[in-house]
Amino acid sequence: MRIARFSIDGNVGFGVVEGDELDVIKGHPFAEFERSGQKVPLDKVRLLPPVLPNKVVAIGRNYAEHAAELGNAVPDVPVTFFKPSTSVIGPGDPIGYPSFSQEVHHEAELAVVIGRMCREVPRERAKDVILGYTCANDITARDVQQREAQWARAKGFDGSCPLGPWVETGLDPADIAAGLAVQCTVNGEQRQLGRTSDMVRPVEDLIVHITEAMTLLPGDVILTGTPAGVGPLNVGDEVAVTIEGIGTLTNKVIKRG
Ligand code: MG
Repeated sequence: MRIARFSIDGNVGFGVVEGDELDVIKGHPFAEFERSGQKVPLDKVRLLPPVLPNKVVAIGRNYAEHAAELGNAVPDVPVTFFKPSTSVIGPGDPIGYPSFSQEVHHEAELAVVIGRMCREVPRERAKDVILGYTCANDITARDVQQREAQWARAKGFDGSCPLGPWVETGLDPADIAAGLAVQCTVNGEQRQLGRTSDMVRPVEDLIVHITEAMTLLPGDVILTGTPAGVGPLNVGDEVAVTIEGIGTLTNKVIKRG
């Protein structure tokens, strides 16, 4: 099932995507919900970020080829950082090029959406805390990342976390481990193509590692790292992240006003 968050005529809600329509949900997807049967055409709504995370916990260097392309080794302990809630934007929203960077990169990533409050999750329960999966772009000011010890500005600026277009609930960690294609195109040209089977640490291990330290809340998001092929974005570019079995997240880079 694909669950989208949308606005229409100033109202915000969740709906189940069925073909080119949304079946509006009564309530929200973090509890038992009913479909209302009220259908809205997808092209009449604005899709919003599918969730509003309290926090986005991101993992760095989780694909060996990507670590190598930037001259890094795969770390013994996962590189973990935050992207703030204010970095999140939805499908079709503009990415404002930050004034303090000359080198902004795309990073196509599988995003895990957490479905329930959890901490100290044992590996065998990890799949129970997942609502589903969506596409993410871990937009990074690479030059800033290289000159500042912590990545809060380089990876946390407004608009640096496009998410969407919806949450696919029909995949489980075994599907991810089997290898979904993760692709990034810029202006229609392929820049990244990897498989989730190449993740150094699978989704369950990331959930164990993160919740050893902190409570995850419904709607929180884990970014699972990017495959090789990262590269620059320029003002005017259209960047698209496509994940097999989920969908495509498209955003345009604009000059920040
Ligand atoms: Mg990343």
